[in-house]
Amino acid sequence: MGLGAGEVFTTRNIANLVPNTDLSVMSVINYAVRHLHVKHIVVCGHYGCGGVAAAMTPADMGLLNPWLRNIRDVYRLHEDELDALKGEERYRRLVELNVVEQCRNVIKTAAVQQSYEKDGYPVVHGWVFDLHDGLLKDLEVDFEAMLKGIKKLYNLSAGPDGPPSASNDDSAAKVEEEGKKNLEEVDAKRKRQE
Ligand SMILES: [Zn+2]
Repeated sequence: MGLGAGEVFTTRNIANLVPNTDLSVMSVINYAVRHLHVKHIVVCGHYGCGGVAAAMTPADMGLLNPWLRNIRDVYRLHEDELDALKGEERYRRLVELNVVEQCRNVIKTAAVQQSYEKDGYPVVHGWVFDLHDGLLKDLEVDFEAMLKGIKKLYNLSAGPDGPPSASNDDSAAKVEEEGKKNLEEVDAKRKRQE
């Protein structure tokens, strides 16, 4: 990458996953984007990944089951394409598709969406490392297109202080109104009993 020591903020886990319930990876993204203001996020997988191989094995892996489920879900999303391939080719393709899907998960975060809208970065990239020849393959993820597609359903760019919708305002007011009424009733009852 042509960068010096300490210039890349990294996190690693089995099969380079970005599950939204994983506090560690979510914290890393949040900190890197909101505090370190990174310009690029790279999701880097590797061919021959043991995690991906385990997910392709129809067996109970105990504690690993929920983690591997993420990869099995990626397979399901691309079932037709993967089923048409065989052996090593299918395995390598799932490694690639998993990286692409994890790029998508990175883009689903509020930190990335809001920073990109405000500052024009970070841009997300998907790479796969090949341990046999030492080469990095850029999967050429189309970040702009992916972001656009994701925002249709996962748009978090307004932020927590964004304007609440009218219906939310109404229901909040209603709850408050009802709470007041209940208190008044309790007061009245108490007075009657006294
Ligand atoms: Zn691996």
